[in-house]
Amino acid sequence: MYNHIQHYINGQWVDSTENEMIDVINPATEEKIGEISSGTKEDLDKAVQAARDAFPSFSQTTKEERADLLDRIADEYEKRKDKFIEVIMEELGSPVNFTTEVQYPMGLNHFRATAKLLRDFDFTEERENSFIQKDAIGVAGLITPWNFPTNQASTKLASAFAAGSTVVLKPSTETPFAAVLLTEVFEAAGLPKGVFNLVNGTGSTIGDGISSHPDIDFVSFTGSGGVGTKIMENAAQDIKKVSLELGGKSPIVVLDDADVDYAAKTAISHIAGNTGQVCTAGTRAIVPESMHDDFIQAIKNHISEYPVGDPKDKSTFTGPQISEDQWKTVQDYIQTGIDSEATLVTGGTGKPEGLETGYYSKLTVFTNVKPDDTIAQEEIFGPVLSVITYKDLDEAIDVANGTIYGLAGYVVGNDPDNLTKTARSLRSGRIVVNNEPADFTAPFGGFQQSGIGREWGDYGIEEFLEPKTIVGLPS
Ligand code: NAP
Ligand code: MG
Repeated sequence: MYNHIQHYINGQWVDSTENEMIDVINPATEEKIGEISSGTKEDLDKAVQAARDAFPSFSQTTKEERADLLDRIADEYEKRKDKFIEVIMEELGSPVNFTTEVQYPMGLNHFRATAKLLRDFDFTEERENSFIQKDAIGVAGLITPWNFPTNQASTKLASAFAAGSTVVLKPSTETPFAAVLLTEVFEAAGLPKGVFNLVNGTGSTIGDGISSHPDIDFVSFTGSGGVGTKIMENAAQDIKKVSLELGGKSPIVVLDDADVDYAAKTAISHIAGNTGQVCTAGTRAIVPESMHDDFIQAIKNHISEYPVGDPKDKSTFTGPQISEDQWKTVQDYIQTGIDSEATLVTGGTGKPEGLETGYYSKLTVFTNVKPDDTIAQEEIFGPVLSVITYKDLDEAIDVANGTIYGLAGYVVGNDPDNLTKTARSLRSGRIVVNNEPADFTAPFGGFQQSGIGREWGDYGIEEFLEPKTIVGLPS
């Protein structure tokens, strides 16, 4: 059991003002693995006050001191590798291989990459007759989802600490224990008290409290668009800055000279990885009409290489959905696809055979999907792929861009001119050509309804800074 019924405020674990608890469930077993306190507005007030008190001194530390701190955090994070993997597997139901190869290092990489960039980051700049100084924004409220329990928090925390901001973090109630482990990391790394505060509790109390708190200067949120809207509405009341990392419906554009097996495996890996619960997942495969039949055959040939099953089993590629609610949402979308004119290629509703316990879905692929169909427009956040065909590349790009989102885009193929044309024409914050690995120094964020602002690297640090122009400074 991972019981953790206290909040971390001003460098100490403290009791909540109320005695109400929230159960945390392992979605692979449907069993309770622990509980957390359901924090109150009074708990939040204390945390915000601690962050406010710590701000004057932390914001005046040097960038070298803060870069060293980030490296010490990364060192302490690495020492707890096995613990992070265990916790993320238990609370998210994330398979052991995916947790080890993706979930664990993503959290770590942000601290390392930010430390490196910070050493070369200019907090001052001279222009014609002005001196520009970038000041830490103040107290930041961080609200994170459950799908990458350390990554989503770490990118925000690395940027905040680099800038000299102090924070209050509210992680998802579904996956709160990775944040408890991060707290242990910060203590061991010698983070000054009050710089980092952790308050557990619901979105409707603590999340809402953060976005409407008069002593919070900036809210950095990752999650759904609906909650993003509420946060903006609250933040609008006192002109609080917001950064929103929201959903997506990202395209995979397959060029006509692509290797069809490579293209099909790329598409399957997008819906299978993290059970499709990835904001950047490529969930619309846009393939040439002439390649369609071969592409569908390749999907059928390769889908069994991505087995759904027990997260503890090393051969498992795909685990369960995070919760019963999320499972039902995914099932409803699969039914919507079946009820449409699209053709079901593989998968469908219900649980995979032998996986009656746990919130497991079948890897599901539809073809003959029209660009405007519900399953091609709405974010499902589950293992469901829509295959759409195109006649020429301009049409493919139009279909790819025909969405309210713009978080990511993928291109698979060989011709350098067509790869370049497509990559540069997609209207999204991140384009990946032929499965190139991520660059943790480059910006991450969305166009349109995928969000506002950028995370990762120096762009992430900028979000936690306010530029100040001084003219007439004595030289
Ligand atoms: P969510 O329901 O929006 O929740 C995200 C966080 O917001 C949770 O901590 C949640 O608290 C909290 N919250 C809920 N209501 C709130 C309110 N009224 N005010 C403030 N905070 C509130 O999203 P989710 O289901 O956890 O995550 C899935 C969504 O996140 C998907 O749409 C996905 O695309 C998006 N996402 C985006 C990115 C990105 O980087 N762009 C990354 C990952 C996920 P509770 O603990 O009470 O739920
Ligand atoms: Mg859970």
